[in-house]
Amino acid sequence: MAIALTFPDGNVKNFDDGTTVLAVAQSISVSLGKKAVAGLLDDTLIDIEAPITHDGKIAILTKDDDQALTVLRQTGAFLLAAAIHALHPDVQLGGGAATDDGFYYDTDRQGSQLTVDQLPALKAKMAELAAGSAERVVLSAADAKAQFKAQPYKLKLLAQAGDAVLAFKLGDFVDFGEGAILPSLKDVKHFDLLSVAGAYWEGKSSNPMLQRLYGTAYFKAADLEQDAKDRQEAREHDHRTIGRDLDLFFVDPKVGAGLPYWMPKGATIRRVIERYIIDKELADGYEHVYTPVLANLDLYKTSGHWDHYREDMFPPMDMGDGEMLELRPMNCPSHIQIYKHHIRSYRELPLRIAELGMMHRYEKSGALSGLQRVREMTLNDGHTFVALDQVQEEFKKILRLIMDVYADFNISDYTFRLSYRDPKNTEKYFDDDEMWNRSQTMLKGAMDDLGLDYYEAEGEAAFYGPKLDIQTKTALGNDETMSTIQLDFMLPERFELTYVGKDGQEHRPVMIHRGIVGTMERFIAYLTEIYKGAFPTWLAPTQAMLIPVNPDEQGDYVKELHDKMLKAGLRVDMDLRNEKMGYKIREAQTQKIPYTVVVGEAERANAGVSVRKYGETHTEEESTKMFIESMQAEVKNYSRD
Ligand code: ATP
Ligand code: ZN
Repeated sequence: MAIALTFPDGNVKNFDDGTTVLAVAQSISVSLGKKAVAGLLDDTLIDIEAPITHDGKIAILTKDDDQALTVLRQTGAFLLAAAIHALHPDVQLGGGAATDDGFYYDTDRQGSQLTVDQLPALKAKMAELAAGSAERVVLSAADAKAQFKAQPYKLKLLAQAGDAVLAFKLGDFVDFGEGAILPSLKDVKHFDLLSVAGAYWEGKSSNPMLQRLYGTAYFKAADLEQDAKDRQEAREHDHRTIGRDLDLFFVDPKVGAGLPYWMPKGATIRRVIERYIIDKELADGYEHVYTPVLANLDLYKTSGHWDHYREDMFPPMDMGDGEMLELRPMNCPSHIQIYKHHIRSYRELPLRIAELGMMHRYEKSGALSGLQRVREMTLNDGHTFVALDQVQEEFKKILRLIMDVYADFNISDYTFRLSYRDPKNTEKYFDDDEMWNRSQTMLKGAMDDLGLDYYEAEGEAAFYGPKLDIQTKTALGNDETMSTIQLDFMLPERFELTYVGKDGQEHRPVMIHRGIVGTMERFIAYLTEIYKGAFPTWLAPTQAMLIPVNPDEQGDYVKELHDKMLKAGLRVDMDLRNEKMGYKIREAQTQKIPYTVVVGEAERANAGVSVRKYGETHTEEESTKMFIESMQAEVKNYSRD
């Protein structure tokens, strides 16, 4: 029986049932037969020797096609599995696959799992096995079951495969599931094994955790080199790595996933930012308050959080006496209580309430990441209550504050996103067309008035109103919301907020929600990445490290200087250990401390210091007075360097 295959140019040709990509390629030309690495049958990747048993669209892939990289990486995964089988026969194999930037294979072993220590030997074994050639065998479902009977994960994967599976055999190792591998294993030449991390079986957190081994492969050596450089760069920027190296914070899933612990140095950075932003807000007319993280659940029923935001909330605590307490996911209802506590007059508006408000959101475990996405966070939150005709002006004022703050932090790479509701999603968004249209038009009007560029995104609004999000890019290239300004006509309605107008009548205020630096967590993750841990002096946990050439001789002078600098408001530390001076200087550099200050006999005699700036190699002699004053100026001006 014949089958009809349609080529990309529209040509249709007949072939024997059970033909292969290889046979089809050879029928076109001898050279294509040699160059073919796999095929696409109806846009699905198939192996060069997989039997084709139905009509369809066919395309023959050579190394020059983008998808050939996927085949190369699937072959990499296959060789990795073969190497694991050869070196660690007691390891159970899960599945493997190609990804956008490499490949992986899942493994499981009772007692001790594979670790990064095993990667070099596995890599060498892969290179050795790549000299051989793989045989293709089509197994019936029954044969496949018998073949993999001692491998529980493979049996589960088989249950999802069809009646016949294409298996690949290399020596005594047999595997299936890769879909397609290269005709010649020798083409797996430029590859590397990179890391090991836990991964739930089938990605479900209720399933056992397997060990996933990651690698990557390219056809060209230069591409592999570039990839290694990019990965190194990303690692150097990653706030989780830097946070560990500089001892800023930790998150331990055994103590609570997404619940960060701030070590003294991380806490210092946070405190500096908290003081900074509070002062900035006080100067801009905000009044700072403290409100509880727990409140009666009814508050969140009134606000609509319970109906529209429940998925992100921790379950309520049943206190047993009829009271239900809820950990707040947002601070708005709390600030509304502050507003409602007094009768408000138009003279008080705009009324600006601010707080470093701690809140809890039940983020999915897979989404948690260092400080960037956590479950307990402190938001630089604020709510302005305004009369309708004050909205535009207040909006501009907040935007000015945001841009002013960004300039102090030297952040220039950001974009504006107007986030609207998705009108079809009535579950998430309040159902009130008129209010949405009114507030969305108002927000857009304000941005147009200011002449600022923005893009619009449907379905990104808060459930109670549209927002302007200020989007920044993380070191790994992801878009993240940092600051936000949100217009809200809903909550004032729901909580029946009023103020007494000039006319002596009650009026409804409009609420503007805003976060300037966002949460302390996400903001500090971001800063850590853009500065690669080398914080500018005003933010650095330790601003200067004092090192005597000889602790016995200049120790006392250094202690004196230390106290003097502390009194001058600087964060300074001294290293009086009996270690070599070069070693201490290197350590101060590793800690990315802005100033390393060396004091020898000459400096002591002149009431001076030898100062070396982070990232520079030369030292400069200065009087201690000058040095202290220049540091103070640097801190005051939020200097970048
Ligand atoms: P996202 O879309 O990132 O989940 P969101 O739109 O829910 O955020 P908002 O409710 O607007 O966020 O919260 C205000 C700010 O809180 C955000 O701009 C962001 O800086 C920060 N933020 C939100 N969720 C988290 C989190 N899980 N961890 C750390 N910071 C967060
Ligand atoms: Zn709010």
